[in-house]
Amino acid sequence: MTCEIVCVGTELLLGNTLNTNTHYLAGNLSEIGVEVIYQTVVGDNPIRLTSVLETAFSRAEIVITTGGLGPTCDDLTKEIACKLLNFQMILDENSLKAIKAFYKKIDKEMTDSNIKQAYLPKGCSIFKNDVGTAPGFGITENNKTLIMLPGPPFEMKYMFENYAIQFLNKLTNYSLFSDYIKIFGIGESKVDVVLSDLMKLSNPTVAPYAKEGEVMLRVTAKALDKESADKLKEPILKEINTILGQYIYGINIDSMEEQVVNLLKKQNKKLSIAESCTGGLLSKKITSISGSSDVFECGICSYSNRIKNEILGIDKDILEKYGAVSEQVAKEMATQICKISKSDIGIGITGIAGPTGGTDIKPVGLVYVGIYTKAKGASVRKLYLSRGYAKERDYIRELSSLNAMDMIIKELI
Ligand code: AMP
Ligand code: MG
Repeated sequence: MTCEIVCVGTELLLGNTLNTNTHYLAGNLSEIGVEVIYQTVVGDNPIRLTSVLETAFSRAEIVITTGGLGPTCDDLTKEIACKLLNFQMILDENSLKAIKAFYKKIDKEMTDSNIKQAYLPKGCSIFKNDVGTAPGFGITENNKTLIMLPGPPFEMKYMFENYAIQFLNKLTNYSLFSDYIKIFGIGESKVDVVLSDLMKLSNPTVAPYAKEGEVMLRVTAKALDKESADKLKEPILKEINTILGQYIYGINIDSMEEQVVNLLKKQNKKLSIAESCTGGLLSKKITSISGSSDVFECGICSYSNRIKNEILGIDKDILEKYGAVSEQVAKEMATQICKISKSDIGIGITGIAGPTGGTDIKPVGLVYVGIYTKAKGASVRKLYLSRGYAKERDYIRELSSLNAMDMIIKELI
């Protein structure tokens, strides 16, 4: 079903308030199979609001508004919409009771202006507001549906999740079921080319989303239930795995760090990290996952050669001969940290994050990531991460950490 989102509020037009409601609704509506075809913002102005609603109903089956349900005189979305659609407004005693109870709970005086919030169109499905005052509602007449939600994002989300979704699901009678395939080591444009045939499918649909250094593929099937959706998705997921398997680091997980911790936990293995140019970023990422203390032994941020020598025990000769940013030192960092901490996997990262400090032989963006395991010994990944931006220090450090996690995942799967 098609839908237009109409956000009402002059503060949105003036740029005083960021329109987060549209962002939230658009994402969540597409998840449940409602096709958002327009997004509109209009101020608290009766004439323009009437015209926006008229247009919205002329081109979409569902119109969802947010904002303008408050008690003040500029809150007029409900009144305007009901006048336009000839809905009779009646006082809903339960809503009035709930508004009174809300004010009692927060120990504030209810004003008469709050009473108008309890007037709702006859025959609508009422969405209770358990976290504020203004109730919302949904109503379908003549194949057109109007849904009204409050403006404050917290109230709007609460109402959407607890009431509006159920209301919408009854209208659409099918749902969308998605799988998210996480990919590292190949760019979005390349993914686009190798999956171009799959991207043309209509059920399931396959869509790529690029994030720094990563690509996520969403595979979405429209079906009556999860089982039928899984059947539709199965051959597509298999085909994607055949084409891109070597780049896939996880399915339906949030991040690489989550996958690293999951795999280490499953295999009862411990990880330790010696970081130079990433300055602890990799350790931070891993330890941001709840339960990482079961698998993360230690992280050392070893910047100076003295610490690399005295704490990690890397030979001065090696440091002098090859330099701190070298394949040999990355391997040594991984090996030593693994041995010192008695871990199963050791990681060593050394590189030049820039923007200054590079040479012709060792340019900014040159990073070595070493990995060590008892069974396989040490190996290294050499990376050239500079893209020539002026402020790419963060990018180089981020990509170094992602590469290290990719190496850990490849070691474990
Ligand atoms: P209203 O229901 O129009 O009185 O809105 C109440 C408050 O909710 C406003 O002052 C805004 O801070 C916030 N708000 C309204 N609409 C949006 C929106 N689309 N996105 C984010 N915040 C909003
Ligand atoms: Mg407003």
